[in-house]
Amino acid sequence: MTDLLAVTYAWHQTIWQQLKVARQQQHLPHALLFSGQLGCGHEHLVYALAQSLLCLQPDAAAYACGQCRSCKVFAAQAHPDFMLLDLAEDKQVITVEQVRSLHHFLELSRSYSPHRVVMIIHADAMNTNAANSLLKSLEEPADNSYILLFTAHPTQLMPTIRSRCQQLRLASPNQAQALTWLQAQALGQTTAHKLLAITGGRPLAALVEESGERLQQQTLFFNHLIAVLAGNLSLTEVATQWEKYDRQELLNWQLTWVQQWIRQSLAGVGDTTTLELTELTRYLKPDTAWQLYERLLELKALATHPLNGRLLVENMLALWF
Ligand SMILES: [Zn+2]
Repeated sequence: MTDLLAVTYAWHQTIWQQLKVARQQQHLPHALLFSGQLGCGHEHLVYALAQSLLCLQPDAAAYACGQCRSCKVFAAQAHPDFMLLDLAEDKQVITVEQVRSLHHFLELSRSYSPHRVVMIIHADAMNTNAANSLLKSLEEPADNSYILLFTAHPTQLMPTIRSRCQQLRLASPNQAQALTWLQAQALGQTTAHKLLAITGGRPLAALVEESGERLQQQTLFFNHLIAVLAGNLSLTEVATQWEKYDRQELLNWQLTWVQQWIRQSLAGVGDTTTLELTELTRYLKPDTAWQLYERLLELKALATHPLNGRLLVENMLALWF
């Protein structure tokens, strides 16, 4: 399943404006087929459109108000007039059973909103039976209903499906838009450039890439820390490996681990124990953990100074002893 946010991005402003005008003139077709590259947040735009079609009082720019009864149940993912079809977990296709549930849904009377909205993500994943079944709803649209499809591969949809929808091609962001967005997500310019190059200019894909990379580094650092505490690696060996890494980040990780460990030890045996916290129990005691936490904080205040990297990492690891 796709995690959806009802948001649009800077590179969506033109299309959002077009949709808004079509809605104002009551010309919005009942079936819309959006297509565009994955990793650019396009599915979020479609989701934002769904929410705003359901909203009882959209704002002047045609965005959902976020306050009304409809918006509240939408945010709780419990809107009775909204149906989302997506690939089920571990499945490669959208099945005819899923599409049949959609027919039934469209026949119900509306309960909260002026419209009923169906959204299908990965529309290209409908198998032939599913696509044929969807044709029926596209040919005989239910009153006040909208069917919003999104696909990254429009040519893989049956031509009969494509021809019954208004097709809207979503543009990928340009380099400046992608960079600005990534920088607003707290990525440094060099990292942002590098990741955009790797992902072919797709900013949301770049962010996923970045968090994966960071998580890997975090796990590696934790393993090194444990190896030092267990006497399997020397302070200098580990410090040499991490001397060029962002020192604020190294300190933040350690502060988080110690803080979580303290919180858990205060609460007694918690049920949220992670492997990391269990591992730390062999090396931390409640009174020394507080001391360690404070010293890590002090070091963090110093970490902005142009100190020797290796020395700083050595110092931070030495605090654990
Ligand atoms: Zn609303």
